[in-house]
Amino acid sequence: MQILAIVVSLAIAAVGVALFGKTIGHIVSVIKLGQPVSRTDRPGQRTAVLVKETLGHTRMLQWSHIGVLHWFVAFGFIGLFLTLVTAFGQLFDAHFALPIIGHWFVFEWASEALTCTGLVSIAALILIRLRHLPRGSEGRYSRFFGSTAWQAYYVEYTILGVLACILLLRGLEYELSGVSKFHFPTTYFIGDAFFGGLSEHGLENGIYLVSMVKIIISFAWMITISLNATMGVAWHRFTAWPNIWFKRKADGGTALGGLQPIMVNGAPIDFENIEELDEDAALGVGKVEDFTWKGLLDFTTCTECGRCQSQCPAWNTDKPLSPKLVMMNLREHAYAKAPYLLASSDDDRKSLPELVLAEQDKPLVGPADVAVIDEEALWACTSCGACVQQCPVDIEHVDAIMDMRRYQVLIESSFPSELNGLFKGLENKGNPWNMNPSGRMDWAKDLPFEVKQVGTDVETLAEVEYLFWVGCAGAFEDRAKKTTQAVAELLNIAGVSFAVLGDGETCTGDPARRAGNEFVFQQLAMQNAEVFKETGAKKVVSTCAHCFNTLKNEYSQLGVELDVIHHTQLLNRLVREGKLTPVAPTDSSLNGQKITYHDPCYLGRHNQVYDAPRELLDIIPGAEYAEMPRNKTKSFCCGAGGARMWMEEKIGTRINLNRTTEAVDTGADKIATGCPFCRVMLSDGLTAKQADGSARESVEVQDVAQLLLASVKRGES
Ligand code: SF4
Ligand code: SF4
Repeated sequence: MQILAIVVSLAIAAVGVALFGKTIGHIVSVIKLGQPVSRTDRPGQRTAVLVKETLGHTRMLQWSHIGVLHWFVAFGFIGLFLTLVTAFGQLFDAHFALPIIGHWFVFEWASEALTCTGLVSIAALILIRLRHLPRGSEGRYSRFFGSTAWQAYYVEYTILGVLACILLLRGLEYELSGVSKFHFPTTYFIGDAFFGGLSEHGLENGIYLVSMVKIIISFAWMITISLNATMGVAWHRFTAWPNIWFKRKADGGTALGGLQPIMVNGAPIDFENIEELDEDAALGVGKVEDFTWKGLLDFTTCTECGRCQSQCPAWNTDKPLSPKLVMMNLREHAYAKAPYLLASSDDDRKSLPELVLAEQDKPLVGPADVAVIDEEALWACTSCGACVQQCPVDIEHVDAIMDMRRYQVLIESSFPSELNGLFKGLENKGNPWNMNPSGRMDWAKDLPFEVKQVGTDVETLAEVEYLFWVGCAGAFEDRAKKTTQAVAELLNIAGVSFAVLGDGETCTGDPARRAGNEFVFQQLAMQNAEVFKETGAKKVVSTCAHCFNTLKNEYSQLGVELDVIHHTQLLNRLVREGKLTPVAPTDSSLNGQKITYHDPCYLGRHNQVYDAPRELLDIIPGAEYAEMPRNKTKSFCCGAGGARMWMEEKIGTRINLNRTTEAVDTGADKIATGCPFCRVMLSDGLTAKQADGSARESVEVQDVAQLLLASVKRGES
């Protein structure tokens, strides 16, 4: 028995280690095919983030019970590695124990604790997977829909098998050693129950046999994953760490907020000297090797857990976009095409199998039946960031999607035709609605006080505290204009000095950038940057979550550093300082009314502003606050982001209707929000629901500022 166990174990281990090493080399060479990007700033902080995310399982714990179960499995994998070493020793001597620590009770107790908790946890995770398997007509809404089921089961049952072997080995060791139960706190039962009657020789053979089985299970797993470099559910054990360390934000933040500029050779394109750019330079991503190496590491790391898919507003309204499937398709394509890209000569390339050559010819984006990424999926993204927020291994989906859009727009001129109107309005009139810029001050006409305009009423912004950035919606969209007026009125009541740019303001460029049109974004942003420099803009308040995000997180790329605040943050501060006092209305429509709040994605997930609007609503006397089930980090998009506001929603059900239904179902009389785009989408959703009788006529969508103003003015507004 012993000889057989030694031969089989050493043979499978040798094959496993050799294949594993080879596959690691292959994975590294595929990742190195990506474009350069620097991700090594602040190494100390990155390391601290990695330690925190790993030990604290901070990202996994967004789904608390699964996070806890995964913690025990992950630390079992790390902590029980020494039991594998022990198993090799036991092949040669059934009494083997690790030198120094082998019989130390702390090591023994820790090993048994990790084994037992790991066993319970993996069993629970298997049950959870079985319970949530895609089934029937609702199967699509399972987070495991589209994941490679056999790989997940294989990994889970491997862990189960290894842990069972550890328990059996401990039981055998207890019987063979004859030492006190103190050293075998949870496994002496197993020894007594199963091996109590065996002779010493029988026990020794039992140890050889179970050690061999444990080694076979472990190295069969190693061989299997080595033969499947795209088996993210297994490889993430190794790739998740570098993926977290190299994440976009060294401080541990998610890859949300500002978008990265288009990079060529690791440096942002200088749009002012665009003619100097190499004509072969890729603007965006048109081939899988145009992604950065971090992008390729992202694809490699995807565990197929489906958390991103479960939160995606596009997927949940029956569009073809699933962020998980985007990652999986890009991974499969990258690894299938890699032999072509890695071949050292044309002759080598010609001799590659047909499958590889076919993969090389596949367009990255196009119709679903021919391309790696379905174009309908690419354009369905609202850039809401739910996927990035939920991903436990810090994958940066939005960056990948936006880079593919950039190539489609800038190089292929291939985009939904509705975007033509958006681009035309932005290029010619500086706003998405193609309105005459001279109308930018119309919102202020009926206000009972004068709104100062830079260039007319004040020379520069040094004369006032804030630049009030009105935004295109705030200036031209009728419903959003009410928010602009309410904020101006509240600032006036609070005695905060501010001025606006009037027709000196042009779109921040957010919709152009999210639609992939970086040229138009740069054109608009450079124009605004010039105005900011001329007028000395420093402190800016914005009512639009998109403007807020772009000014705050993207204009620094053009050398403009602004201190940007969202109006709900400023108003909340003014209330706390006593400069605005909400009062219990006597005759107001707010009295006894229920208010719910929709988190704008670009305020919440992209910028972590969750509390200020809620605190404002909470403080309004006489009103009752009701939270929607999907809120804060798990909030559901309204459907307007990512320039989707200007695209038709032809596939599936409407995102805004989905969200409005949730808001109405809280029983709210007022649906509050803090972004003009959300307001338009929710208002449209509400109108549709009121038309079909599924919402009360009295329900209204309003900005938080309007509700506050009503309270401050004792319901007179
Ligand atoms: S950003 Fe939002 S819409 Fe786009 S893939 Fe991620 S979850 Fe889906
Ligand atoms: S991208 Fe992240 S959240 Fe989505 S399936 Fe992969 S690992 Fe899970």
